[in-house]
Amino acid sequence: MQLTKYDRTVYNNIVVKRLHYRRLCTPLFGRILTMPLDTNQRKLRGFTLIELLVVIAIIALLAAILFPVFASAKEKGRQTVCASNLRQIGTGIRMYSDDYDGTMPQNAHFYGAAATDEANSEIVWVAALAPYIQSVYKIRVCPSDQRGDEVKSSKVGTSYIFNEYVSTPSTDRFGNILEDPDVFLEYDRIPRPSETFLLFEQSDEKTRGGYNDHVHARTWFDNTPRLRNWSALLGEIEPDRHRVGGVPYQGIGSTQRRFTYNRFGGVANYLYADSHVKAIPAQRIKSWCDENYNFAKPPR
Ligand SMILES: [Zn+2]
Repeated sequence: MQLTKYDRTVYNNIVVKRLHYRRLCTPLFGRILTMPLDTNQRKLRGFTLIELLVVIAIIALLAAILFPVFASAKEKGRQTVCASNLRQIGTGIRMYSDDYDGTMPQNAHFYGAAATDEANSEIVWVAALAPYIQSVYKIRVCPSDQRGDEVKSSKVGTSYIFNEYVSTPSTDRFGNILEDPDVFLEYDRIPRPSETFLLFEQSDEKTRGGYNDHVHARTWFDNTPRLRNWSALLGEIEPDRHRVGGVPYQGIGSTQRRFTYNRFGGVANYLYADSHVKAIPAQRIKSWCDENYNFAKPPR
């Protein structure tokens, strides 16, 4: 039979592959399978360099595949604990409000950033809920909060901050409370509780302490250009709190952090007024900012 040039190439390839297989795999796997159990019989021959390199390469490959999986499973676990914290806080707020004529717990807004942790230790929501949730000083910290240690070192700091529209009345410049149709300080007056946000996850740009227990959502929207909506929001809440490897906060100027990183990956947990908790992707929050949709304002 006459072999064509093509046939010869194919034939040669097969022979070469077989040789490679014999040289590489037979010593490695064949030796393991045929290894004598009696140590006296075993010939003492070390692994060759190629065999070692193959093993190391396989281990490196497996590690490269599995580590991101482990990291994301770990973050998923922290996100679940965080959601459970928020659910308990939601129940606590409901119980507080039942005892206080339907009103929400107070927040530190009127005491200002200059006030000390100590001065605020009576009025922040964490302190208000202490009689209702035994573990409030534990569950006020989200396990994914990169500044969790600061929260723990503060008497009443927290990873979760109140929506301004359900916690902070509008005032004139003399401090007189104004009638504001968008603000609902009483639980039972919130028109659509299942669509109204109560608590957000706090931005890493905000210092943890008794004076940071609420956001200023009125300033998030109606900015020009609308990119400023997103920037204002990132200064107060962390819409990508639960992502693998959080956005670092150290060594970077606060506003720089908002633009240096892609902030659309990951999700954050949100507590609603009917006590349900939902994880919303940062990407969706960003699109709401782009549309100038003020999701913090209680819908009617
Ligand atoms: Zn304030």
